[in-house]
Amino acid sequence: MIKYIVFDFDGTLADTLSFIKEIAYEEFENVSDHDFDVLREEGVGALIKERKIRFWNLPKTVLKLTSRMTNVQGINLFPEVIDSLLVLSQSYKLGIVSSNSEKNIFDNLKKHNVHHLFDFIFSQSSLFGKDKVLKKMCKKHQIHHSEVIYVGDEDRDIVAAKKAKIKNIAVSWGYNSKNKLRQLNPDFLVNSPKEMVSYLS
Ligand SMILES: [Mg+2]
Repeated sequence: MIKYIVFDFDGTLADTLSFIKEIAYEEFENVSDHDFDVLREEGVGALIKERKIRFWNLPKTVLKLTSRMTNVQGINLFPEVIDSLLVLSQSYKLGIVSSNSEKNIFDNLKKHNVHHLFDFIFSQSSLFGKDKVLKKMCKKHQIHHSEVIYVGDEDRDIVAAKKAKIKNIAVSWGYNSKNKLRQLNPDFLVNSPKEMVSYLS
């Protein structure tokens, strides 16, 4: 039986794509809007391939982006998502798994007055696979993989959940397009927070 709904943060709960864009333009050379089209339509793996980001440069690149993301001020949660959290928290325990910092996430939740709805924020780099992070989260909070649904906005969220034997919901309002997400065959694909709530109710 499902007891926990665990959310990815960036792109799923929080509207952060514009911030990532801004940071990428500042930090890296030759960034163009095309890169973000590739990210949305084909996923981050395809972007890494196309931009020929070398494997040994990847940790540095990811670290640069994520460390700057943890300091970004002014992030907002998607307004409709806030409504859905209020409904879902009546029937489920809620958690967050993210490579964004716990403080940054908590401050944002608090700003929207939804911090009290969450049981935990599990913050850890997903550089070596988000599946490992999901497994660690389950272990730390003593959750069996069959008791949780993981909600994420990227292809790698779906892959990670499958590897960790966790049911998953893909949301199409984040970093990846509906088409891209569908290719990964998520357990459920939703186009709005309302749809997510009606699936889980
Ligand atoms: Mg995300």
